[in-house]
Amino acid sequence: MSVVVIGAGLGGLRTAEALRRHGCPDPITMVGAESHAPYDRPPLTKAVLRGTVDDTTLPADLAELGVDLRTGRRATGLDTARRRVRLDDGTELGYESLVLATGAVPRTLPAFAGLDGVHVVRTIDDALRLRTAVERSRRLVVVGGGFVGCEVAASARLLGAEVDLVEVLPAPLARVLGPIGSQLVTDLLVEQGVHVRGNTGVAEVTGDGAVAGLRLQDGTELATTEVVLGLGVVPDLDWLAGSGVETGDGIVCDAVGRTTAPDVWAVGDAAAWHHPLAGRRVRLEHWTNVVDQAAVVGRAVATGEADEPADVPYFWSDVFDTKIQALGFVDPADDVHVASPGGRTVLVYSRSGRLTALVGFSAARHVMRLRSAVADRAPVEEVLALLAA
Ligand SMILES: Cc1cc2nc3c(=O)[nH]c(=O)nc-3n(C[C@H](O)[C@H](O)[C@H](O)COP(=O)(O)OP(=O)(O)OC[C@H]3O[C@@H](n4cnc5c(N)ncnc54)[C@H](O)[C@@H]3O)c2cc1C
Repeated sequence: MSVVVIGAGLGGLRTAEALRRHGCPDPITMVGAESHAPYDRPPLTKAVLRGTVDDTTLPADLAELGVDLRTGRRATGLDTARRRVRLDDGTELGYESLVLATGAVPRTLPAFAGLDGVHVVRTIDDALRLRTAVERSRRLVVVGGGFVGCEVAASARLLGAEVDLVEVLPAPLARVLGPIGSQLVTDLLVEQGVHVRGNTGVAEVTGDGAVAGLRLQDGTELATTEVVLGLGVVPDLDWLAGSGVETGDGIVCDAVGRTTAPDVWAVGDAAAWHHPLAGRRVRLEHWTNVVDQAAVVGRAVATGEADEPADVPYFWSDVFDTKIQALGFVDPADDVHVASPGGRTVLVYSRSGRLTALVGFSAARHVMRLRSAVADRAPVEEVLALLAA
């Protein structure tokens, strides 16, 4: 048997490790479009951008694992009938099992196309380039107030830059956390001097060959030579067209990572697994989710046995010194209650009186012990009483 893993990021590496852990004796070939060995992305907008870390390579001995890593190579076509993957150098790889772990790529805006000074942050190269640019210019405009945008704004501020954050919704993270959570994050940013500009978007980009400034829809003019687009990510799956691997918002998978093609599996940001707690397919972009899914798929391919992964999604984000941690499916349309255990803030989300999610602000101790309450959809009054005790 031979296993081919497409994508040499967190999901690809963790899958290879799980394959070996579960006794897979067969050759594993891992193909990665980047020139780097697998590395970690969460530090890119945190320690790397703040200048305290330059290298986030994930600790792993690929030779010891018996993984043939092909970096700087992209998969460009898949023939599931012949069980072959085509690479961008024209070569083909045969497989008996194939794991797709290709992540996602940042969205951009046509108005910024081809201009110098426009950044996204998905790769270590992006992060190092942005850090150099911000250290030089001491000025940054972040367009888009999702987690990446907020973390970039905070880290650039810590580098001493003057930072504007532009968000088309009323405030950063409004779409993710709802108004109460997004106000808390806005306060964190504003207290540290980030100029948060909500309810407005980019009307015009000025500059010839390089960004010189932005005019916002509310008429504000912002001079800057450096802009970060934090507009979310989408999986790049065009190369799978016609292969029999069904895609939509991500690669369509069952609850253990099987795609619609035989012996083809998918994990991580690229994959939309059926999620038992949600009762539908969801594509998550969380570090822990990738690790959990890779463990399931590695074992399934190695042994033929598969268990559904942990049922409560978890993610974290660092904005300045505040660690935001979320358990469950956070839906801004749910009821939101504010609890203050031990002087920390925990947002408690509920629907029809049942707990759906928790978001803590530097409140790890209070949030993490309630994982089973989220899984069981505990009565929200009980959860609020626990947090008040
Ligand atoms: C800046 C940043 C900060 C983050 N912070 C947090 C955080 O604080 N908390 C949290 O929970 N999560 C965070 N995440 C999310 C987390 O890092 C991702 O969920 C995780 O990296 C996804 O792993 P993956 O293996 O699915 O994809 P990736 O890590 O993106 O790896 C996919 C790899 O596949 C390669 N590839 C793509 N297409 C092909 C192809 N056709 N052929 C070959 N190779 C290909 C890509 O180049 C890439 O190297 C962050 C992500 C980013 C970018």
